[in-house]
Amino acid sequence: MTKRVVVTGASSGIGAATVRLFRRRGWDVIAVARREERLLDLAAETGATAFRADVTVDADVAALREHVESTGPLHALVNNAGGAFGLDSVESGSIDDWQRMFDVNVLGTKRMVSALLPALRRGADAERAGGDGGGADIVTVTSIAGHVAYENGGGYNASKFAEHALVAVLRLELAGEPIRVIEIAPGMVHTEEFSVNRFGGDQGRADAVYTDVEGPLVADDVAEAIVHSVELPAHVNLDLVTLKPVAQAAPHKVVKGPLQTR
Ligand code: NDP
Repeated sequence: MTKRVVVTGASSGIGAATVRLFRRRGWDVIAVARREERLLDLAAETGATAFRADVTVDADVAALREHVESTGPLHALVNNAGGAFGLDSVESGSIDDWQRMFDVNVLGTKRMVSALLPALRRGADAERAGGDGGGADIVTVTSIAGHVAYENGGGYNASKFAEHALVAVLRLELAGEPIRVIEIAPGMVHTEEFSVNRFGGDQGRADAVYTDVEGPLVADDVAEAIVHSVELPAHVNLDLVTLKPVAQAAPHKVVKGPLQTR
């Protein structure tokens, strides 16, 4: 049976790379984001199905659920849609930025899990019908910012810690079901839009994040980790995968300049 996965945040960065890799591995992919044109381009390139939805909007997620349920079993969900807005102290950070981060990173993930768990259960049952085991997967892309606080991390830290907690609770609640709950927590990934969005469109400030860092992660690195975790034997659950560039020891400790032995 061809397996099917929903990837959110598929119109750029890590999500688009994940769609491409799943397609190369023979999966059917439903690529979800708000910018439909980008999704249509990706669909034309890869053969994925484009589905425009905002994970912060109930009606959009309900429509996605209907689409998924009417088109066959689902074997994996990748909750990747998300982002950072602002790099400010707790005292001065904007409530609007915090609200947006909680909406997309926390509530968007919760909404997707609630909507697609029934389809994932059906996918898991279909997988197991042959008697060879197997199941379904929920992969969520959090961040090292969901594990380690840093100054001015403010709302991004708080929302990603909350997303991490959501994943941990979900794993406890699904214990006993053939559904793996996997958290991918990347450090610095040089994607085109993440830092530009964080800094309100300031490309210079965004570029400076990566300047002189030897080998920041790229979207394909994270896609490899996601697809690898899903394609491991079904009894192996990579609960938490933390991946960082070698030049980064913590969110707040990134070494600039070439790596060298001491
Ligand atoms: P991008 O900004 O490139 O991608 C974010 C994606 O999410 C876009 O496709 C965007 O598409 C989509 N998205 C945003 N809001 C919504 C929404 N409300 N509904 C549906 N889709 C939405 O960032 P990255 O690829 O770098 O990041 C992907 C994930 O990885 C995020 O969760 C981020 O927090 C996390 N991460 C990133 C790191 C980095 O350094 N880049 C490090 C650690 C974690 P559209 O605008 O079309 O909806």
